[in-house]
Amino acid sequence: MSENKTEAEILKEQLFMDSQHTAKVIDETELKEAFDFCEGYKSFLNSCKTEREAALFAVKEAEKNGFVPFDNTKKYKAGDKVYYLNRGKAIILAVIGKKSVKEGVHISAAHIDSPRLDLKPNPLYEDSNIALFKTHYYGGIKKYQWVTIPLSLHGVVYKKDGTRVDVNIGENEGDPQFVITDLLPHLGTSQMERSAREVVKGEELNILVGSLPFKSDSGSELVKLNIMKILNEKYGIVERDFLTAELEAVPAMKVTDIGFDRSMIGGYGHDDRVCAYPALMAILELDSAPDYTAVTVLTDKEETGSDGSTGLNSDYLRYFLADLGRCEGDILGRDVLSKSKCLSADVNAAFDPTFPSVLDKMNASFINKGIVVTKYTGARGKSGTSDANAEFVSEVAQIFDNNGVNWQLGELGKVDEGGGGTVAKYVANMNVDVVDVGVPVLSMHAPFEVVSKLDVYMAKKAFLKFFEA
Ligand code: MN
Ligand code: MN
Repeated sequence: MSENKTEAEILKEQLFMDSQHTAKVIDETELKEAFDFCEGYKSFLNSCKTEREAALFAVKEAEKNGFVPFDNTKKYKAGDKVYYLNRGKAIILAVIGKKSVKEGVHISAAHIDSPRLDLKPNPLYEDSNIALFKTHYYGGIKKYQWVTIPLSLHGVVYKKDGTRVDVNIGENEGDPQFVITDLLPHLGTSQMERSAREVVKGEELNILVGSLPFKSDSGSELVKLNIMKILNEKYGIVERDFLTAELEAVPAMKVTDIGFDRSMIGGYGHDDRVCAYPALMAILELDSAPDYTAVTVLTDKEETGSDGSTGLNSDYLRYFLADLGRCEGDILGRDVLSKSKCLSADVNAAFDPTFPSVLDKMNASFINKGIVVTKYTGARGKSGTSDANAEFVSEVAQIFDNNGVNWQLGELGKVDEGGGGTVAKYVANMNVDVVDVGVPVLSMHAPFEVVSKLDVYMAKKAFLKFFEA
């Protein structure tokens, strides 16, 4: 074959990057495995739309697989499986390794919160015989995308006596759903002149929740009264209980295959459950003790900057790792941290041929080309990112190359085009080696996002191989 090649062609082969490197087609058996894996992911996505639901799912799956609540006064041996639930909204799972934790641990950290519409503390009002909920959006959204789509309501309400009520309405067959209305185009002339940021304003994201008045000959706010009566009958709550509640409106659409070839999945909350599910499945799949202690973190509050007790800017991961050291012997937390390695498992923006201008095609990620390794995120000259070092990125690349993990490198957009961040910097700031590794997503942060099945599967494979390394 090669006798027909020119010298230039031969040199190119030796020196240039293999353009197929990032686009390997996997064999039929693995393709089927990937599609099968995604059926589990799809049902997870349908049933876990909030961080609380995802954390609870993780607890149940962990317990089924022999994980027990972590006790920082106990001694653990290689192969032991523990989990630590942080306030019902974040969870750490660990499989104790053969090596001492002073050699460091291997962490995969994903987040289980997604952009959504939180109810305001005092949400319910009636205007013109219509009952509505006021909302305050959570995370970065294009507000206009959240109108005229079916919404469901999830969360917890604590009654005055302290009793907890779990709310999940709009997901089951036959449940009512909710919606935010928009102007008809016929009367949208001045609305359409607003800038896209303002087409629908934050204070216009009011959710339609009822229209029938309570039967009475006189009185005001009868529609609101009727809604409170229904809520009281169903949940035993009164209006005051909203003040302390945590209620979240999320898209009610079900997850579905996308494309004639069913190669993609459309659904709400891929960011970042598309990394959280594979990171969870990878640690559950570890049947024998890994060399290094494996840790999966599913965290909350990433979409609002990781602050708060359940976000990774809090010390809960640091304390957990320090406790692992204490359980083993007199090992200081700082010694565990300084040798530890972490895949910050978060999504990146996939190249979208309809909007090519925001990404540098040479440094963008594409769906179906495997998980994307993102060396840095941030904005304005790499501000707000940890920027992984060459030593660790190449180490991770080797693990993937040696284990049949399809991977690609990607930036989050062109220079100065915008930007964003992940939990990577918070973990890196604990003196841990970190790089972002995740699934490329189309329409990220929209109520209905798209990922490819192959990439979801590759994410699981990547986290598993990292744990086994
Ligand atoms: Mn994310
Ligand atoms: Mn996000």
